[in-house]
Amino acid sequence: MTGTVYLVGAGPGAPDLLTLRAAKLLGEADVVLHDALVHPDTVALAARAEKIAVGKRCGRHSTAQQFINKRLVDAARRHRVVVRLKGGDPMLFGRAQEEIDALAKAGIAFEVVPGVTAALGACAELGISLTQRGLVRSIAFATPRVGAGERPSDWAQSVAAADAGAIYMGSGQAEAIVAALLAAGKSAATPVAVVENASLPTAQVRYTTLSGLPKLVASGSTGPALILLGAQFRAPVSTTDRAPMQLEPAPCHAASR
Ligand code: SAH
Repeated sequence: MTGTVYLVGAGPGAPDLLTLRAAKLLGEADVVLHDALVHPDTVALAARAEKIAVGKRCGRHSTAQQFINKRLVDAARRHRVVVRLKGGDPMLFGRAQEEIDALAKAGIAFEVVPGVTAALGACAELGISLTQRGLVRSIAFATPRVGAGERPSDWAQSVAAADAGAIYMGSGQAEAIVAALLAAGKSAATPVAVVENASLPTAQVRYTTLSGLPKLVASGSTGPALILLGAQFRAPVSTTDRAPMQLEPAPCHAASR
């Protein structure tokens, strides 16, 4: 008899940005395999579980994905409740599909528990809505990161085609991001917000434009950073006086006139 593997989203950082379902499963877990970015207080909710760090922090120690897949399968053969705890939401830039495929191949039951993804944690930090009526109707979630041996990505075209972009795992390659987005037709003046450590007490918010991104990133970073770009991310005049946005007339009003 094998157990179930729960792929659980831990949210962007703050331990209380966790779903009730996630907290309940952590309390029941026999084993927890967690990412390096997950807050220690979140991992600590798994009071009775064996806790295994399978860090995937850029530039630091990381455990090969195939090894993680194998550990999940092995854990499910020995335990009833196995939690795979991932930063943000497991299904967004979390390599969840590789783990799901490995579990399915091994005949192991799995369930996914969503979490608050970093882009939404970052928008909460900024107090700026990711979509805005009449102005921002589409967002591209993208990463410039391409793994070894993978074919080149057209992420920049997707971001350029959308009203706004949320770029994950990008702070280490700001110059390449700017070059790719300019080549894809984005204006150098496109407003950009960079949010680090969203949802944590160490959160930091900085505003620039697309052309100013490399300089801003070079001035230092302290933790995981999300790059947001689009008209709504124009720097506020002051923290209490955010620049009002020009909204197009909503189509429904035009039609009713
Ligand atoms: N599955 C995760 C993303 C994992 S990729 C999610 O849904 O959020 C890791 C990237 O997420 C980081 O390189 C960074 O771009 C972003 N990120 C994660 N936590 C963050 C945080 N607290 N603040 C800003 N960006 C964060």
